[in-house]
Amino acid sequence: MDNMENKEAAALTPEEKDKRCRENLEKAIAAVKEALPGMTLLENEPMSAHCSFKIGGPARALAVPQDVMSLAKLCSVLKDNHIAPMMLGNGTNILFPDEGLEKLFLVSTEKLQKLFLLPDGALYAEAGVPLSRLASFAQQNGLAGLEFASGIPGTVGGGTIMNAGAYGGELKDVIESVVCLYVPEQRLYELSGEQCAFAYRTSLFKRLGGCLILSVVFRLEKGEGEAIAAKMRELNERRRDKQPLDLPSAGSAFKRPEGYYAAALIDEAGLKGYTVGGAQVSEKHAGFVVNRGGATSHDVYELLMHVRSTVYQKKGVELEPEIIILPPDYALEDFGPTLKRNLVTFNGVPGEEDAGEKEKP
Ligand SMILES: Cc1cc2nc3c(=O)[nH]c(=O)nc-3n(C[C@H](O)[C@H](O)[C@H](O)COP(=O)(O)OP(=O)(O)OC[C@H]3O[C@@H](n4cnc5c(N)ncnc54)[C@H](O)[C@@H]3O)c2cc1C
Repeated sequence: MDNMENKEAAALTPEEKDKRCRENLEKAIAAVKEALPGMTLLENEPMSAHCSFKIGGPARALAVPQDVMSLAKLCSVLKDNHIAPMMLGNGTNILFPDEGLEKLFLVSTEKLQKLFLLPDGALYAEAGVPLSRLASFAQQNGLAGLEFASGIPGTVGGGTIMNAGAYGGELKDVIESVVCLYVPEQRLYELSGEQCAFAYRTSLFKRLGGCLILSVVFRLEKGEGEAIAAKMRELNERRRDKQPLDLPSAGSAFKRPEGYYAAALIDEAGLKGYTVGGAQVSEKHAGFVVNRGGATSHDVYELLMHVRSTVYQKKGVELEPEIIILPPDYALEDFGPTLKRNLVTFNGVPGEEDAGEKEKP
C-alpha cells in the first residue's frame, strides 16, 4: 500500500469506507476463485458450524487451503486486493456475531495437518494439528511436556497465538520456534520461542496482528510412554469432573486476574447459573459461559458484560474476557485504568492495514 492510497483511504467517510471494503472483498473473492480454482471456498457460511459455542451468522468467505503453499498464494491474492484475512483454527476461543461477518475473509487451517519427528528429536507440527493429536503423538514417541495440552480443544496455530495452557503448563514452555507469514509484508519469519514474547494467554502474534502461524517446532523431554499416558488421563479426568464439557462453550470466559481466580470471583458474586436468553454462567464451573441451546451472541455478550460489572461492583476486580469477541467494535465498559481490550484487528480497507506504528515480528 503506498502513501497516496493511504491518504486517499483516510479521507473516506465511514460509508465510503464500508462500500470500498465490500467492493474489495467481492473483487478478492473473484480473484481467489480464478487463481486457486481447486481450493475449498465457502461463501456466506454460518459460523455456528465452525466454533465450539455453536453461535454465529454467515461469514462472507471461508477458505480452506489444502497446504501451506496454497495458503501463501491465497494471502498474496488477498493482499493484492487489500484484504487482510482472519485465521480460524478450531474456533474454540471465539464468539462470532449473529449478524454474520459480511466484510470478513476467513482462512481455516483445517487441512494443515503435517506432524512428524525431526532428526534431532524435536516435534514439527503444522498450524491445523489439534493439540490433542499433538499430545498423543508426543506420548507415543516417549516425549513428555505436552500432557497439559491433551484436553485443550484448539489447534497448534490458535494455541500458539493464545499461549494456551492448563494445569501449570503453557505452550511457551515447549515451543522452540514458530514459522509465520507476516501478511502486510508477505514475508515468512522464523521466530525463536523467546522472540514470540509469550505471556499469559497472549503472544507477540496476538498483540501485533497480521501474523499467520504456519508451523511450530516443539522441544520436549524424553519420558516413559505409560507415565505420560497416565498423566494425560489424570488431567483429562480432572477436566471432565470440573468443566461443563457436555455443553457448547469457548472455555474460560475471562482471563485469570492477577492474584485471583475468575471462577471464584464470579461464584462469590452470586453469579453461578446467571442466565441471559440461552447463555448461562455454568452451574458446574463459574468460569465458563455455556450455550444451553439457542443462545445468541448478544445473549453471551450481555451476560459477559453483566458478570464484569457485577464482579467489579462486588469484588473491585476488573475481569478481562479471554474469549475473542467479534466484531472488534463491540465496546467494553471501561472501569478503570487497568482495562485492556481483548480485540483482534482485521480490515479490508486500503490504508487501514498499514496504519499506526507497529513492531515487526
Ligand atoms: C471446553 C473448552 C476447554 C478449553 N480449555 C482451555 C484450557 O485449558 N486452556 C486454554 O488455554 N484454553 C482453553 N480453551 C480455549 C481454546 O481451546 C484455546 O484458546 C485454543 O488455543 C484456541 O485454539 P483454536 O485453534 O480453537 O483457535 P481459534 O478459536 O480458532 O482462534 C483463536 C485466535 O487465534 C487466531 N488463530 C487461529 N489459528 C491461527 C493461525 N494459524 N495463525 C494465526 N492466528 C490464528 C484466530 O484468528 C483467533 O484470533 C478451551 C476451550 C473450550 C471450548
